[in-house]
Amino acid sequence: MSLEDLYKEVILDHYRSPRNKGRLDPHDVRLERNNPLCGDEIELFLRFDGDDLEAIAFEGKGCSISQASASMMTEKVAGLPAKQARAIAESIKAMMAGEEDGDPDVLGDLVSLKGVVKYPVRIKCALLGWNTLLEGLEEAGRA
Ligand code: ZN
Repeated sequence: MSLEDLYKEVILDHYRSPRNKGRLDPHDVRLERNNPLCGDEIELFLRFDGDDLEAIAFEGKGCSISQASASMMTEKVAGLPAKQARAIAESIKAMMAGEEDGDPDVLGDLVSLKGVVKYPVRIKCALLGWNTLLEGLEEAGRA
């Protein structure tokens, strides 16, 4: 299996079986954002315990890239200190902008999103969840 096929498998798996999908109650922050270019929608719920992002969940609809990326994001950042979640989100943005290669040791399966860089119109899809997370951390004063 080529690396690209492996990436596709990871994304499809998250699209078919999204992690942390649904409302999160109680929550500290709820944000709705969309990507009008593609019609993707994300509703993101964050709950904090001190400076830790204790729990995260999302609702949404749209293309496989947008929904899989959001699912992968929730799996990666749940339970992390908010600062670390923010650092990961910034790394993903830099990777999608072609500014960073993406360190598999730090990002794990998230490097599979790198396959999307070849399709510029899809980058906004992949980043919808991450940009919403960054806004949410900001709104909660934990950025
Ligand atoms: Zn999309």
